[in-house]
Amino acid sequence: MKKYNFNAGPSMLPREVIENTAKQILDFNGSGLSLAEISHRAKDFQPVVDEAEALVKELLDLPEGYKTIFLGGGASLQFCMVPYNLLIKKAAYLNTGTWAKKALKEAKLFGEVVEVASSAADNFTYIPKGWTVPEDVDYLHITTNNTIYGTEMRKDLDVNVRQVADMSSDIFSRPVDVSKYDIIYAGAQKNLSMAGVTIVIVREDALGKAERPIPTMLDYRTHTEKGSMFNTPPVVPIYTALENLRWIKAQGGVKEMDRRALQRADMLYSEIDRNKLFKGTVAEEDRSVMNICFVMNEEYAELEKPFFEFATSKGMVGIKGHRSVGGFRASCYNAQTVEGVQALIDAMKEFEANH
Ligand SMILES: *Cc1c(COP(=O)(O)O)cnc(C)c1O
Repeated sequence: MKKYNFNAGPSMLPREVIENTAKQILDFNGSGLSLAEISHRAKDFQPVVDEAEALVKELLDLPEGYKTIFLGGGASLQFCMVPYNLLIKKAAYLNTGTWAKKALKEAKLFGEVVEVASSAADNFTYIPKGWTVPEDVDYLHITTNNTIYGTEMRKDLDVNVRQVADMSSDIFSRPVDVSKYDIIYAGAQKNLSMAGVTIVIVREDALGKAERPIPTMLDYRTHTEKGSMFNTPPVVPIYTALENLRWIKAQGGVKEMDRRALQRADMLYSEIDRNKLFKGTVAEEDRSVMNICFVMNEEYAELEKPFFEFATSKGMVGIKGHRSVGGFRASCYNAQTVEGVQALIDAMKEFEANH
């Protein structure tokens, strides 16, 4: 049976990205050696990093003065690296979910943190509006897509301070005005590559201002100056990222990814709103097009488990909601297909007809 992968992360990648990576793992560039058994300093590997950096620059239209680096440690390490490097006195954080809250907690180790707004009291079902940022903060930290609760900020914010964004679950899904940000970071396993690499886009002028001593590995300058080669970077995940960046470009770039994401989300949310058994969990205007969360309507609550089993029997994988929301979550990252979303919709319709 064909499987439709809705995993939240690690998650679906385009088939050809997996196949091309598999080939290089068996025989890297016809060298007779595996991609997994060559030096990261081998002359054949440097072009991989160079091309990946160039593609990030091209796809997101990076202005002058920005560098892309590939690090280990996941997005979670960035929760501390950002304030370690950028927080001089005071930073502002927008609390829109589990990941935002974790980032905020780490920042408190380094200085004063202002929570500009929070939707925690309503289980993060909306993106707070109408808040202001104090003029004297070093940066505002936002989480553009709330992977767990399914809300998203799909437009760059207009604020009076520099921004830092955790884009782990929506990077490369839409055009971004990078010039508004000092740092953009993303753990790769949602929308870019396999787990193990984190992509960080850094405005070089933002670095070197905090006066505290920074351990070498946690100082962005170590990595921007050495082109991600200070120590051994995650070679295979970087290669997979390169393959995926090539794929995004070949498909038409981030504009096309945006168009497809909106199309898929429109299809699925329309069915959630139409189907008598289901309802969405977040404010309509803040609905994520990447992580689509829905639950059973109250009067059909007892059908949750039966629907899960029915959908599984039709090939759906990974649609169980996060434990903090319950119900269902269909993650529709760049590699998700209209066919996959249609299969889920068909299962929802058939299940409705049976009940
Ligand atoms: C998954 C996720 C993280 C955590 O990523 P790790 O790479 O596991 O540390 C952080 N932020 C967001 C928005 C995420 O979706």
